[in-house]
Amino acid sequence: MQQLKDQLQALPKIELHVHLEACISLGTLQYLAKKNNINIPKHLSQGDNISFRNFDEFVQTFYAICNVITEESDFKFLAKDLIDYVKRNNIIYCEVSFTPIIYLNKGFSFFKIMEILNNEIAFNGLSGVIYFIIDTQRDHGLGIGEMVFNKVLQTKNANIVGIGMTGLEIGYNSADYTNLYRKMYDAGYGGTVHAGEYGGAAAVWTCLNDLKVKRIGHGIQSITDDKLMNYIKEHNIHLEVSPTSNVRLCRTDSYAKHPIKKFIEMGINLGINSDDPGIFNTDLTDEYVNLLTTFNFDTGVLKQCNINAANAAFAPVEKKQYLLTTINHLW
Ligand SMILES: [Zn+2]
Repeated sequence: MQQLKDQLQALPKIELHVHLEACISLGTLQYLAKKNNINIPKHLSQGDNISFRNFDEFVQTFYAICNVITEESDFKFLAKDLIDYVKRNNIIYCEVSFTPIIYLNKGFSFFKIMEILNNEIAFNGLSGVIYFIIDTQRDHGLGIGEMVFNKVLQTKNANIVGIGMTGLEIGYNSADYTNLYRKMYDAGYGGTVHAGEYGGAAAVWTCLNDLKVKRIGHGIQSITDDKLMNYIKEHNIHLEVSPTSNVRLCRTDSYAKHPIKKFIEMGINLGINSDDPGIFNTDLTDEYVNLLTTFNFDTGVLKQCNINAANAAFAPVEKKQYLLTTINHLW
């Protein structure tokens, strides 16, 4: 097993769905909690392999991490952990999701946070490897979404290549954000959205039809709707799949029963992602090992997932070409 892990670790990878704060290491979490005099939940402080019975349990854990960040300069520590994560998994291109509203509410400057993150990334030679997707939370409402995305427009560049949406699915309608997504497309940003994780196939349809996204975060509930599956295949929609995340949030009965097997058999355009490695105590390379050992996929499947991710990236065309050449050469 270790030999397989070493072999997979060394191969270049592309990741399009991982959250900034969820790359935090246990050491950083404990350091910031102590420095800022904040208590952290027992399961986080011990680095357990935890599962979550519902979305609220998960969100409370995510917020517990956000709470240890009490000043803008704390983002330097998050950047260091993100950089470690990218390096140890040999990720050659990463789009990192960041949901800034909780910090904007604390009075932090979005511009300053992005500057701290990007300075650390540049200092470690990873400019051109790590980019950002700025998220809003669906359940926070359109007004917050407009405010957050206006920050993106005002900040310009800052290594931000796209926008996204997280948060509750049930009881909230992604279509409310149609005009906002269109505005961001017009400004040159790519768009993705978490959907079909807790919401059913109808939630995915809404994001495809109204938000006009070409990428869906998770999208696993699409498996319940044959028409949707055919649409996703025919229109080459990219699914950002995160099997371990779906297992830990009880979105599938087991790893072996994850719909990724059916997705792969159907030739669906998807990539492999870790989503929240620091919370799940996992790594992108672990995800690759699990896929090979659980489903008996050969490495060609993982290579294709990386080619899919390169093609679905929000990066400029020249960057995508470089990624495709590298993947084809080294896998
Ligand atoms: Zn996610």
